[in-house]
Amino acid sequence: MIGVAVLGSTGSIGVSTLDVIARHADRYRVVALTANGNHQRLLEQLRQFRPAYAVMADENAASRLDAAVRAEGLDTEVLAGADALERVAELDEVDQVMAAIVGAAGLGSALAAARAGKRVLLANKESLVVAGHLFMEAVAAGGAELLPIDSEHNAIFQCMPTGFRDGLAASGVTRILLTASGGPFRAWPIEKLARVTPAQACAHPNWDMGRKISVDSATMMNKGLELIEACWLFGTDPEHIQVVIHPQSVVHSMVEYADGSVLAQLGNPDMRTPIAHAMAWPERMDSGVGSLNLFDIARLDFEAPDLARFPCLRLAGEAMRAGGTAPAILNAANEIAVQAFLDERLPFVAIAATIEKTLSALPVEPVETLGQLMETDRRARAIAEQFITARV
Ligand code: NAD
Ligand code: MG
Repeated sequence: MIGVAVLGSTGSIGVSTLDVIARHADRYRVVALTANGNHQRLLEQLRQFRPAYAVMADENAASRLDAAVRAEGLDTEVLAGADALERVAELDEVDQVMAAIVGAAGLGSALAAARAGKRVLLANKESLVVAGHLFMEAVAAGGAELLPIDSEHNAIFQCMPTGFRDGLAASGVTRILLTASGGPFRAWPIEKLARVTPAQACAHPNWDMGRKISVDSATMMNKGLELIEACWLFGTDPEHIQVVIHPQSVVHSMVEYADGSVLAQLGNPDMRTPIAHAMAWPERMDSGVGSLNLFDIARLDFEAPDLARFPCLRLAGEAMRAGGTAPAILNAANEIAVQAFLDERLPFVAIAATIEKTLSALPVEPVETLGQLMETDRRARAIAEQFITARV
């Protein structure tokens, strides 16, 4: 039996992961489940999957969950706090760690899984954006297997030659074509973007996702974060990655080779495909996703991204080129701005402006330690918050 810890099990990716696991109960055993504050949702999952451990980031929620677990006589140990997230990621009986916490809050536990040499199923792209260099070092030092869950990166991984880690040029790869749906506002008149509501931004045309990544898709910061994620995962730079708008989200990304071949991975837009792929790799298993009906889809469109409409995509490329602490600043400012937009304290179009101002306000330094990145993250959040407060 393969032991799995699902970090962020109550979220969109977490729930899809448990759906895949439930289809293969003969092969996978859930060892730990974790959530932020929704103890009711986690309790339901404990009843179904009976893990040895449950972690709630919030201490009060953990106490409530512990009381409920005892009252029901469930055999799960309830732990609380960020340290406990790292502890369950390192457990001997855990072989695979699904890193599906949203935001920089997922970095510590994903790093712990990498250091402990686990198969890391990485959904939390923010880990690579904030600490790409340190994260890849931890994977190498720990002897971990890093498998991308983000659908585009999983697609790219599937289209890569086996020796890609020796360098893309050496293995005949010339370019990565990173596809993007363009989000709900791809074809809206630009002047209407000023009045966008959180509900409109979260209504993604093709994917059903958590609120933060849904807003990131609407601003296209999601593609910006994914550009940075791809640079670290595949050892390349933004010059070798072309973002391609593809509104149908059927081609999940492509890899171009020196001989002119372009390999693509296609499928229905359902995260259970990359999840099942990464869990079973190098084998294949059923994910519950239906077969692709190309006659219904009928056509696939491709267009160039519009950087004037989507300044976040430009900002992410600039941050990756600047290097050092710049992507960590970008990520922190984005998390604060997106939350302020969701709380209706910041207009949609001011998200990019808040990030740009935060990037200009802080010096970019070479990355030496995790502590330095945490401090950069904290300062960038405080500055972004100041810009948002100063607007009103
Ligand atoms: P979500 O908001 O639906 O779920 C987030 C999970 O993290 C929940 O279980 C929540 O309880 C937990 N969490 C939130 N804050 C926490 C904190 N401070 N400490 C501990 N736990 C915390 O998000 P999601 O859509 O499932 O996305 C999760 C990650 O996967 C993100 O990094 C996202 O970018 C990435 N991702 C998601 C999708 C998708 O289809 N949803 C696709 C690709 C990548
Ligand atoms: Mg993606």
